[in-house]
Amino acid sequence: MAKRVYLFNEGSKDDRELLGGKGANLCEMTTLGLPVPYGFIITTTTCREFFQTGNKLPRLLEQEYRVALDLVEKKMGARFGDPENPLLFSVRSGAPVSMPGMMNTILNLGLNDEIAEGMAKKTNNPRFAYDSYRRFIQMFADVVMGIDGHKFEHEIEQYKAQHGKTLDVEMDADDWQEIIRIYKTLVDFPEDPFEQLRLAVEAVFLSWHTPRAIVYREMNNIPDSLGTAVCVQAMVFGNFGEDSGSGVAFTRNPSTGEHAFFGEFLFNAAGEDVVAGTRTPLQVSALQDRQPEVYDELFNTQLLLEKHYRDMQDMEFTVQEGRFYMLQTRSGKRTGRASVKIAVDMVKEGLITESEALMRVSTDHVEAFLHPMVDPAAKTDIVATGLPASPGGATGKVVFSAEEAVEVAAGGHSVVLVRRETTPEDIHGMKVAAGILTELGGMTSHAAVVARGMGVCAITGCGSLTIDYAQGTVTTDDGVVIKRGDVITLDGSSGEVMLGDIPKTEASSSDDFQVLLSWADKHRRLKVRANAETPEDAAKARELGAEGIGLCRTEHMFFEAERIDDMRGMILSETVEERKKYLDKLFVYQHDDMLELFKVMNGLPVTVRLLDPPLHEFLPHDEADIASLAERLGKSPDKVRDIAEGLSEVNPMLGFRGCRLSVVYPEITEMQVRAIISAAVEATEQGYKPLPEIMIPLVVNVREIRLINEIIDKVIHEVLKEKNVSVPYKIGTMMETPRATLGADRLAEEVEFMSFGTNDLTQMTYGFSRDDAGKFIPRYLERKLIESDPFVSLDQRAVGRLMEIAVTESRARKKGIKYGICGEHGGDPRSIRFCHDLGLDYVSCSPFRVPIARIAAAQANVQAESND
Ligand code: PEP
Ligand code: MG
Repeated sequence: MAKRVYLFNEGSKDDRELLGGKGANLCEMTTLGLPVPYGFIITTTTCREFFQTGNKLPRLLEQEYRVALDLVEKKMGARFGDPENPLLFSVRSGAPVSMPGMMNTILNLGLNDEIAEGMAKKTNNPRFAYDSYRRFIQMFADVVMGIDGHKFEHEIEQYKAQHGKTLDVEMDADDWQEIIRIYKTLVDFPEDPFEQLRLAVEAVFLSWHTPRAIVYREMNNIPDSLGTAVCVQAMVFGNFGEDSGSGVAFTRNPSTGEHAFFGEFLFNAAGEDVVAGTRTPLQVSALQDRQPEVYDELFNTQLLLEKHYRDMQDMEFTVQEGRFYMLQTRSGKRTGRASVKIAVDMVKEGLITESEALMRVSTDHVEAFLHPMVDPAAKTDIVATGLPASPGGATGKVVFSAEEAVEVAAGGHSVVLVRRETTPEDIHGMKVAAGILTELGGMTSHAAVVARGMGVCAITGCGSLTIDYAQGTVTTDDGVVIKRGDVITLDGSSGEVMLGDIPKTEASSSDDFQVLLSWADKHRRLKVRANAETPEDAAKARELGAEGIGLCRTEHMFFEAERIDDMRGMILSETVEERKKYLDKLFVYQHDDMLELFKVMNGLPVTVRLLDPPLHEFLPHDEADIASLAERLGKSPDKVRDIAEGLSEVNPMLGFRGCRLSVVYPEITEMQVRAIISAAVEATEQGYKPLPEIMIPLVVNVREIRLINEIIDKVIHEVLKEKNVSVPYKIGTMMETPRATLGADRLAEEVEFMSFGTNDLTQMTYGFSRDDAGKFIPRYLERKLIESDPFVSLDQRAVGRLMEIAVTESRARKKGIKYGICGEHGGDPRSIRFCHDLGLDYVSCSPFRVPIARIAAAQANVQAESND
């Protein structure tokens, strides 16, 4: 039979799974020789056994823990249930993974009328004995018997009012005895200490299934099957008198990461008084003044623990009658900034390695260096929640159109652009907005992709909002009406929409952050590129460490005010000649943009994708816009409307787009390739080193590639011959359709690189339209029909399988192909890990995610090496 009960000197910090985090650390501290009140732990395996047998404690468990209990009694020199010399216990839960405050704790267990009286005599402190007893009854009734704690608080309040008292300190021993008498009329309380213990153990196990514990596990991806251990520990008392007290301390500052011992302490108080915040604690230095030996012991203990655990520790301690006791230690929670500083400092101090430092920092923590973040403590008035499409926080006046955004922003105000969805026509408004909020659209919708690219905070798919453009209002499902000009705050990292201006932390880099990134670069194998089109975004990406452009979406280059009409003219052309006239104009834009991009990315690869979206996306829909465009192009409104209607699609995501455009309008491709290569020639002549990579989107079979390759090759040869220079270039394809991945072996023969466009690949694998998925994905998540949003975190079972087939089979056919990913997953840490393990060469993500991808790529590598 497996051992179910462990004394504190029988385990170690490596036994988290069996003894829970708290139990394992208590064992470790005991073995280190620290003054830990002695006790024993009932294992997590016992908890699972308890659930498997219909919530019954194993038959022999009590016998087992009674043996342990005897040993604890000997060590503590007191006896459980003995009125002359009573030993009391705390009974706490402790899961393998920290779940702070989620489960139950019972203190002072082992008291009854007789023992309380004995304790009053022995300690010569009746007030303390009866106060402890009433606290125990209250906790026991609440945790074990399910009686609402407020009932007891209410009795105390009533008693105080009747006796002209307001504070607990005014209550003397008689008062507490009277309270105990009242309590006992409310609960049928077990007097036998062993029965109390048995019921408490059961209650701790059962607390694994309280709603708040279940929700916490769901939120933090903690498996239900782990179960909790129970720690039964001898009580020591911080509320014994003025030479006693309780405190919490951190070995370093958890907000700033500063290497300074930091803690709070209350004299004559139990641990829960410090945590509850009902009295204002003193700085731990107060202890140094009043009890210098105790302070020295605490100080030395924290030094020892941090060195031993090689991480910042969060400790709980108690002083009873001038004697110091350690109750708990664990790795301390910390802010993003603190986590980076602590990791870097600890490497400098020789405590941990660079690889360990990289694993200590969560990629969520890194956001704080890149974007202003909403202060979690300040969050109030959350009126709606949507998808966290682009991280960071933003506050501004609500506007409902791109034009309004430009106007209000020009007046010096920060604006939040609220739209049902955005289209490329909204770009000018999106550019000036501090934040973007849409009712529709998923994580790869236009609003999400563009906002992430610009590093602007955004929430999409906020389906509980009803937007009324005409009235200039947005109404939440609770009926809150937000009007044009009202100030709201968006938290793009959580998807929460709040009323008013909520404080935010400033985004700024730090030397430590740069050091950490340099280590990430040293420890990663995956390269990191950025998705960017404009020279500004490319420069930003390079500054943030991008090693190339992985996706330049050329269509984004044609949306600027004066360009879009030439694009529209090209689309609305009725003859090839007419189209060529506009293409000549577009050539100039394309060429000049590419030249700038090659200069900025000098010496680094730039993957330029041929035109991808369905053409109707460029056309106006509104009658007035159609009429004015017709006038500008010298066409009749009827003609413009006819062509626009002809191009409108029922499901444009699966429509006339991608390389299908090249098949039907080869002249567009010719223009683009000419512009790209002649810009590369010119950049070379100016002394730069351009590395263009031309990428063919949305391919389904090898014949498409062959046909388009012919067009590309012909133009490249013409340009190079004409200019009589050579530029290195590559031709590759995007892997965005399931068929392309399944036929990758054949595609391999025609290309030098393959870049997985996992936005479209996910859309087509699931049959979930990217633009519409925001309407139902939140419900799917809520109901657990999917584990995570597949547009955020790559679905490894399906989309990942397709990628794996594509890489394995194309590699078998031809060596030397480079593999990348440029869908939004290229910036998601879990997906990056997958790409690393699949052996891709690079990931490409929006510029502001580049640092995160660098760290995630290093973490993937460190993890993989540690598994080897
Ligand atoms: C993709 O489909 O993953 C991709 C990067 O292309 P886009 O998002 O432009 O369709
Ligand atoms: Mg795509």
